[in-house]
Amino acid sequence: MKKLILILGDQLDIQNPLLENLNVKTDQVVMIESAVEAQHVWSHKAKIALFLSAMRHFASELEALGIPLNYVKQSPQSIADALREIIVREQATHIAFLEPGEWRLKQEIANLSSELKIELEMREDPHFYCSHQEFKNWVADKKELRLEFFYRLMRKKHHILVDAQGNPEGGQWNFDRDNRKPFPKKGPGLISPPEFFEPDTITRDVITFVEKTYPDHPGSLQHFQWPVTREQALIALDGFVRHRLPTFGIYEDAMWTDTPFAWHSLLSSALNLKLLNPREVIEAVLLAWKKFDLDLSTVEGFIRQILGWREFVRGMYCLDMPQMAADNFYDHHNALPNWYWTGDTQMNCMRQAIGQTLDYGYAHHIQRLMVTGNFALLAEILPQAVCDWYLAIYIDAIEWVELPNTAGMALFASGGRFTSKPYIASGAYIKRMSNYCAGCQYDPAIRFGENACPITNLYWNFLIKHRKQFESSPRTRLMTANLARIEMADQEAIVAHAKTILAKLESL
Ligand code: FAD
Ligand code: SF4
Repeated sequence: MKKLILILGDQLDIQNPLLENLNVKTDQVVMIESAVEAQHVWSHKAKIALFLSAMRHFASELEALGIPLNYVKQSPQSIADALREIIVREQATHIAFLEPGEWRLKQEIANLSSELKIELEMREDPHFYCSHQEFKNWVADKKELRLEFFYRLMRKKHHILVDAQGNPEGGQWNFDRDNRKPFPKKGPGLISPPEFFEPDTITRDVITFVEKTYPDHPGSLQHFQWPVTREQALIALDGFVRHRLPTFGIYEDAMWTDTPFAWHSLLSSALNLKLLNPREVIEAVLLAWKKFDLDLSTVEGFIRQILGWREFVRGMYCLDMPQMAADNFYDHHNALPNWYWTGDTQMNCMRQAIGQTLDYGYAHHIQRLMVTGNFALLAEILPQAVCDWYLAIYIDAIEWVELPNTAGMALFASGGRFTSKPYIASGAYIKRMSNYCAGCQYDPAIRFGENACPITNLYWNFLIKHRKQFESSPRTRLMTANLARIEMADQEAIVAHAKTILAKLESL
């Protein structure tokens, strides 16, 4: 019997349960760098570098522990094809792996096992609080699938921010209302910098390789300083809870020119590569809460993202794939403007959000949801093109977390399946939450005409077009009530102007 233990590029945890009883005489760990995966979408150079560097660091850790490793560098094949070759060559009888996050890969590996008549051992990924079965059970008797109720269940089940009777700490489950402040008029002031890491030899080699092999791919490697080892990820976590968490909550939604990270944690890539376990992140946050006497609203706001949203979107992805990838509730078909890949647009908010994304492979949640996502929805862009962009351009993008956020939340492509309303906003919201409009040639208050903000114009156009849908829900009725205050002649002018905008998206 020969067993291969497959470790994927986003499963870099030395505590992997499959390594526990590894037999060094008969078993072999397999890791595969696949060029096909790097080009599946037109990936940001920093995303490719992050995966390769983290994988190579992990491989050297395995080797140092004396674990037999078959590490395939830069296979031109897909992971499944490269794996097939190894199975045949090694005459393996068993293959063991943690469940891949990505639906496509899971299918491909399952197909391999039936094709080669090899025994398959697939374990649940222990990096999540909620198993697929538990999520399915929760869904079974629900009329509506909403984060809030799932999140409360997770809080109670895992005794996080609840008292002995199961009541929420501070008397309420959710402090979202306290977490939506813009920066002061004068700007964010001094922000404690995140922990960054100078590239070591492995990372420098990877950077050179990526520059040479993928010169046409989007994004820059100049600022590449992301954590690529568990040790670095732990330093990043410690730095965040000490210096940045106290101010995280209040300014969670705020945006400001040349302030790419604000007070955010920047932990998503380390979490998604499994360099960090969400349990230790939440534990560190709870400890910091007591130790530094932090506001409950910031602690709850942060924990909600990890214990709530992160688990919830994963559950939805597993439940709704492959349908989720094809969803297109509004039947939108416009092409993604090329400037999403270059940042070369006159809309300052988009230029800022896309510009920092190209520099770092990072934008925070509100930039993704209410700037680039909002525009893509209002501009009626084909959801699959938008999803491919998000999957390509962010260092933390793995389909199980990217797709539900993009298709489900930002684009409302899955209808109201797991969000209560489309997240749309006019330029007024962006003006309130940032200083972007001050540096823009457009005016967020103008709905049509030469200086009209395209986002404001398309927002009202969207409401006019989908008036019935927005009127039918108490959560969105106020938006159409505001629309009713706009004179009919102005509404016609909005629609006419929107036609011209939608016809020239490429040149905005
Ligand atoms: P923080 O703001 O510091 O939040 C802390 C952690 O909470 C994050 O590290 C992340 O692990 C988790 N989290 C926060 N919001 C979400 C969410 N909505 N869903 C899942 N986890 C969440 N996140 C990804 O990890 N990968 C993606 O590919 C991704 N694509 C997105 C696409 C769109 C259109 C939108 C609206 C959101 C997307 N998100 C994605 C969620 C979120 O924007 C990022 O997790 C976050 O910006 C990462 O930065 P941070 O680590 O500084 O997060
Ligand atoms: Fe963006 Fe409109 Fe503000 Fe310009 S005016 S920054 S396009 S919201």
